[in-house]
Amino acid sequence: MDTTHTDAHKTEEEWKRELTPDQYDVLRKGGTEAPFTGEYAVTKDDGVYRCAGCGAELFDSDTKFDSGTGWPSFYEPKVRDAVEVRSDRSLGMVRNEVVCKRCGGHLGHVFDDGPKPTGQRYCMNSCALRLGPR
Ligand code: FE
Repeated sequence: MDTTHTDAHKTEEEWKRELTPDQYDVLRKGGTEAPFTGEYAVTKDDGVYRCAGCGAELFDSDTKFDSGTGWPSFYEPKVRDAVEVRSDRSLGMVRNEVVCKRCGGHLGHVFDDGPKPTGQRYCMNSCALRLGPR
């Protein structure tokens, strides 16, 4: 997509045009990429993970940990207010959905079985994120 375009409120047609099919499925339709397929599942590279939809800073590589799940996992957001947690009752489960506050894009879910210091596990989709320099 065009990373210079910072307008976070786009029509579905614009999202469809600017995102890859995988990004569109996750960010706009709440889909989940298959485990161990995403480009950030196991990377330990340094930097900031930004929203692939709008560029908002979401996670820092310093808080990434190896969850063994096949999805990039973080114990806290870089900026607390950058993400919003919502109750998600799809697929017969009650989970806490994590969305980008700026663009409303679905990022993944958060669980209470993470490591110290927060005990939280932000289980994200690689394709909803873009790793770049701090
Ligand atoms: Fe966003």
